[in-house]
Formats: sequence, structure tokens, C-alpha cells
Amino acid sequence: MRPSATLLSQLSRTARPNTTAFIGLGRMGYEMANNLFSKTLVNSNGSASFVVCDAREESAHAFARSLVDQFPGTQVKVVTTPAEAILASSTVVTMLPSSPHVRQVYSQDGGIIPALNTLSPDEVKSTVCIDSTTLAVDVARQTASEVIGLGATMVDAPVSGGVPGAKAGTLSFMVGGTEDAFKRVLPILESMGKRIFHCGPSGAGLGAKICNNMVLGVHQVVVGEAMLLGQKLGLDPAVLAGVINVSTGACWASSVNNPIPGALPDKEPPCTRDYEGGFATALMLKDMGLATAAGESVGAPLPMGKAAEQIYGKMVEEDAELARKDFSSVYRYLEEVSEGKRE
Ligand code: NAD
Repeated sequence: MRPSATLLSQLSRTARPNTTAFIGLGRMGYEMANNLFSKTLVNSNGSASFVVCDAREESAHAFARSLVDQFPGTQVKVVTTPAEAILASSTVVTMLPSSPHVRQVYSQDGGIIPALNTLSPDEVKSTVCIDSTTLAVDVARQTASEVIGLGATMVDAPVSGGVPGAKAGTLSFMVGGTEDAFKRVLPILESMGKRIFHCGPSGAGLGAKICNNMVLGVHQVVVGEAMLLGQKLGLDPAVLAGVINVSTGACWASSVNNPIPGALPDKEPPCTRDYEGGFATALMLKDMGLATAAGESVGAPLPMGKAAEQIYGKMVEEDAELARKDFSSVYRYLEEVSEGKRE
């Protein structure tokens, strides 16, 4: 006899305390979920089960197949809505593009918050939501207050470290939430990252992430400007980078992500692969926009942030290829302006 739908749902609710869900298996989420699930399996002696969900169902199926190939016998369920994911799991990690997707996954029909409303008070209390998306601080705070208002735990926990850090399990997490919430999520985040910072209350993790990325975005533009100026003054890029990187202009944009091939002889930044495989200009533009919008909402003047945002905006608007490439390709954009190929 086939089990009824109600019986199936009761069975999955029994396993809920030992089940973890991951929603958003894109470039970052796929690698993070792989680390989280592998380490959870080892720590639980194989008794844990997993749920995955992505708007592109094929991504979730591909992930589930890969986990079962690595760990035969593992329970991985693919679901089509965030509601199904939270009904089956007491822990959920979300890694989505930005604010509208987070609102959709948490608040709309078929989302996490309406589903939490159907659980028992004990089930809600045992629920932990970790959102690692980079999104607007006010949207994150609103979403967390709705989840927390029902009795569950939620933190914002955006990351830095990119896809290589996600794959290696060495991400930095910037966490916003209460002290208790931080203690609850710490072991979960440690399975995906190396440096876990408690930045303050809800929204503080995102605040830290957005400020850091604004610094990075401005640095990458000015390093592009300086490297171009140096070349035009007749300097060898490796000599110039060598000077900057041990002097007061030293920064990650110059010493790790330098935009001129050969400027860092012992490193292989994205420029050595025609700016492929790094952090997309379009994503940097999104983060600069989050910073300037936050600046406006609290009255913080950001003249450099706004100027850099404008340059990334032009790159994305004028050139779909540069939009997709690593944001250090701002150097190429400036070079083309200097050659009269762009305004
Ligand atoms: P991505 O676009 O590759 O992945 C996002 C995933 O979310 C996709 O698989 C998409 O199908 C899924 N998704 C979208 N809407 C959904 C919905 N309603 N329900 C379920 N799934 C949905 O993006 P990414 O590069 O993995 O980045 C994710 C987040 O991490 C972004 O906020 C980004 O700014 C941040 N981030 C990215 C990097 C990086 O190097 N890529 C580095 C640090 C932080």
C-alpha cells in the first residue's frame, strides 16, 4: 500500500530536527551547501538529511545527484517551494541574488514565513534561518523581524571570499543578530567559513559587508587609474605594482587583483584569464548601489562611492561582456576611454 500524503508529511516532520535545507544553489550556494552538508553528515554519523530548493529546479537536482554520488545512501530531497523546505527542516540557509528574491522566498505565498505560521510553537522555536544573500539592510531587518516575531531565530550572514572561498570552505561571514542567535549559528557557519564575525544586531552583518565592498569597489577603480597613468608615464607595470604594494597605496585591488597581466609575476589574477572567473562587474554594481542607497537613507555622504558606482554603471550599460567579467576590467574600460574608443 502506498503511504498517504498526510503520512508522508508526518514522516518528514519527524525528521525535521535533523534536516537542513539550502535554498539558492547558484555559483556560491552550490559550493556552500556542499561543504555544509558534507560536514553535517560527518558530524551526525550519517543520520542527517537534507532538502534543496532552487528556482531553476535542474540546479537543485544536479546538486542532489552530486551529493549522493559523493556520499551514497544520503537522504537529499528536492522541493519546489521554500515552504516545503521549512516544513521539512529546522535549519535553512538562503543564498539568493538580492532583496526581491529574499522577499519572495521568505514572505510571499509558498514562502518561509507563511509556512512557519502553520507549525507548532515548539517547531517554530527550534527553527533557525540564516540568510547569506547580499541585500539591502532595511529589507533584511524587516524580514528578520517578521521571522523573529513568530518565535524563530534569524541572522543576516553575508559572505566575502567569492566562489574559490565558498569551494574551499574558507569564507568570511559577517553576522547580524542577537548574541544567542550568533551562538546557535556559529557551528553551522564554521562548516562553510573560516572567519566568522559577530558585527552587531540584525542588519549589522550586511552593513559591514556593504561598507567593505564599497571600499573595494572604489579601490579597484583608482588602482585601474593609477596603473594606466603609470603605463602612460613609461613605467613597467610590475615595477609600479611592486612599489605600490609595499607603500602607502597598498591594497587588495593592487596586490591580489591587479588589473594588468604580468604586474604580479607570482600571481594569477583574473586579468591573466582575460578577466574571467572573478567577481562580476554587475555584482559589484549591485553592491555599490546598496551602499549608496544606504548612505542616502541615513544621510551619510558618499562622493567617492557614488563616483565609482557611476563608472561600474556605465560599464554594465555599455558592454555586456565587461558586465560579466571580473570588476578589475574597469582598467580595460579606462584604457578604451583613453584610446578614444569610449566617451
Ligand atoms: P547566482 O545568481 O549564481 O545564484 C543565485 C541562485 O538563487 C540561483 O541559482 C537562482 O536560480 C536562485 N534563486 C533566485 N530566486 C530564487 C527563488 N525565488 N527561489 C529559489 N531560488 C532562487 O548568485 P551567486 O553568485 O551565487 O551570489 C549569491 C549572493 O552572494 C548574491 O547576493 C551575491 O551578491 C553574493 N556574493 C557573491 C559572490 C560571488 O563571487 N559570486 C561573492 C560574495 C557574495
